[in-house]
Amino acid sequence: MIAAQDGIKKVAMTTNGYRLEKNAQQWRDAGLTNINVSVDSLDPRMFHQITGENKFHQVMRGIDAAFDAGFEQVKVNAVLLKNLNSGELPAFLNWIKDRPIQLRFIELMQTGDMDSLFEQHHQSGVSVRNHLIANGWIMKVRDQSDGPAEVYCHPDYQGEIGLIMPYKKDFCSSCNRLRVSALGKLHMCLFGDYGVDLRDLLQDNAQEEALVARIQGELLNKKQSHFLDQGHTGMTPHLASIGG
Ligand code: SF4
Repeated sequence: MIAAQDGIKKVAMTTNGYRLEKNAQQWRDAGLTNINVSVDSLDPRMFHQITGENKFHQVMRGIDAAFDAGFEQVKVNAVLLKNLNSGELPAFLNWIKDRPIQLRFIELMQTGDMDSLFEQHHQSGVSVRNHLIANGWIMKVRDQSDGPAEVYCHPDYQGEIGLIMPYKKDFCSSCNRLRVSALGKLHMCLFGDYGVDLRDLLQDNAQEEALVARIQGELLNKKQSHFLDQGHTGMTPHLASIGG
């Protein structure tokens, strides 16, 4: 239904990939244009340790199925985790050499429920960026759909690397993201202090103008940055609560 609306060019879904092998073709046929899959390690045991699920091979078969179903590029998200997957950069680079995957390394972001996990495992993406630049990778001109990611390419690689480094200065300056949660609330930032209720207006087609006006009015309140460096994580207890 969403893909059939005028003006909608891209419908993307982020998934853990557990049902990708089974459903990729059906999702593609339904109008899904882009798919993002989480793969935090290419070592099946480490994947199990990080995710709590022994499903590495299932997810890999799912990515193959996505290509077979006609997705031209698959985005893969990997959270950089010190002392867990931090030694896997060579394996990841090797993996995307002949695959049109945009692999996105995402720094761990502190959220309300995180306790000591952030201190234990946060790893900056700067070391990855330095490695890429030293080995001939080039930063691409930012595409509108890149949001705050820096994307690097290399003539010898079919895949690309995206870096999401939220603690970097000016990280938010290219942010064009708005999110609507499953509860029908509009969020201006992953780490905002509140969500604006849209559900009352979404449920009534006659309210379209009021809906547009409420969203436009709220845009003026979008802050220029998060306040993570000051330890302020907003109302987000964990990223699953808002969809990441
Ligand atoms: S403004 Fe918020 S949502 Fe946008 S990039 Fe910054 S932290 Fe992320």
